[in-house]
Amino acid sequence: MKLAVIGTGYVGLVSGVCFALGENQVICVDKDVEKINKLNRMESPIYEPGIEALIEINFREGRLSFSTDLQESVRCSDIIILAVGTPSLPNGEVNLQYIEDAVIEIANAMDGYKIIMTKSTVVVGTNEKIRKMISDRTTHPFDIVSAPEFLREGSAIRDTLHPDRVVIGLNNPELVPIMRQLHQGYTDNIFVTDIRSAEMIKYASNAFLATKISFINEISNICEKVGADVTEVAEGMGMDRRIGSSFLQAGIGYGGSCFPKDTNALIQIAGNVDYDFKLLQSVVEVNRERRFMIIPKLRESLGTLNGAVIGIWGLAFKPNTDDVRETPAREIIEMLVAEGAIVKLYDPIAADNFRQQYDHPQLRWCSLPEEAAEDSDAICLLTAWGVFKDINLQKVANVMHRKVLIDGRNVYTKEQIEGTGLSYYSIGRPQLS
Ligand code: NAD
Repeated sequence: MKLAVIGTGYVGLVSGVCFALGENQVICVDKDVEKINKLNRMESPIYEPGIEALIEINFREGRLSFSTDLQESVRCSDIIILAVGTPSLPNGEVNLQYIEDAVIEIANAMDGYKIIMTKSTVVVGTNEKIRKMISDRTTHPFDIVSAPEFLREGSAIRDTLHPDRVVIGLNNPELVPIMRQLHQGYTDNIFVTDIRSAEMIKYASNAFLATKISFINEISNICEKVGADVTEVAEGMGMDRRIGSSFLQAGIGYGGSCFPKDTNALIQIAGNVDYDFKLLQSVVEVNRERRFMIIPKLRESLGTLNGAVIGIWGLAFKPNTDDVRETPAREIIEMLVAEGAIVKLYDPIAADNFRQQYDHPQLRWCSLPEEAAEDSDAICLLTAWGVFKDINLQKVANVMHRKVLIDGRNVYTKEQIEGTGLSYYSIGRPQLS
């Protein structure tokens, strides 16, 4: 099949590359010239493990190309996949401007039958709006498919090639075999439903996962007070298949480009039909407070933060990505700066992205975790990168000034901490030292 994927971000690029592996002819389109130039040099504009090798092999074998020309790409393709961003507006609603701009261009370029497939996360009813926008502009026939994306940054290729399920919302049943063929070799588990339900499945899924995270974080607060260990509690809970062990890791809360925006959007979607989604409002509120729990833990162990040197390990919102959108690290660091701390930052991949968003004279940029620890009064681990899990904590302790380690992701075991001389604080676990 001939596909045009509009938007070469985390979703569009990974989808394009994986569909090309499936013997389709794929054009990845972006209006960002720099991204397309990079791709034409076989460089990925995003960090995603394994992606560059797949870009290169697909490109070399002639199944993948890159373009800034949306209209020409639409004309060359049978299926147009929308993967542009749908960020939040300041009031929490979804900004559909990128979708609308792309749809107008698609409609204006149409020269025959096309399938328009929306992978971007869009509020319920958006695909119907897309249908109207296109039919207002062209007499060419077309179909609309809602195909919400569930991949996770950091494991996006695996998630795309081996998805738990593919959700397809449509109202023309003749498309079902085409959708099956498109996903052939990846999964037979295609859940076909109506368009509005498909749009809702995406929001409900993300809201449920966010709820699990806030739930275990609330449990961790109680664990701290009653002397239980939240990691043991989560493990014991997760063994029950009705509960499952994923998304039960206590920590400083979720961030990223999806959970914060999608939970707020669902609260808005509910509000627009006069429904007060109290449970989800609490999930969001609990999550907002989480990141700030680092600060009292620091004050408790260091006294004033004015003039203190704080090392930060991890800036990305989660490991294995360079994405810093809505990362908890941002507000924590801003608060430390406001309190007069000198903050030494290290992230193996996301530091450049973070620095483009935020820089300050009190920040020191480090190229190794040990450098961020040197002469620091405390280290705060904010992202559970593997490099931190495996680090020699004794060597780290030796170069620190005051030896405080705040583990915002419960990465370390008792055995790793014992004997290091570190004052160690984690989340919802008994004090280890
Ligand atoms: P992104 O910001 O990384 O990428 C979007 C890309 O679209 C950008 O490169 C931008 O330049 C391009 N673009 C915007 N308008 C365009 C136009 N008119 N023509 C061509 N290109 C255009 O976004 P993302 O993280 O890939 O997310 C895309 C969508 O997928 C969002 O709706 C998001 O909620 C959803 N989603 C994201 C993830 C994730 O983990 N990132 C997972 C599931 C779903």
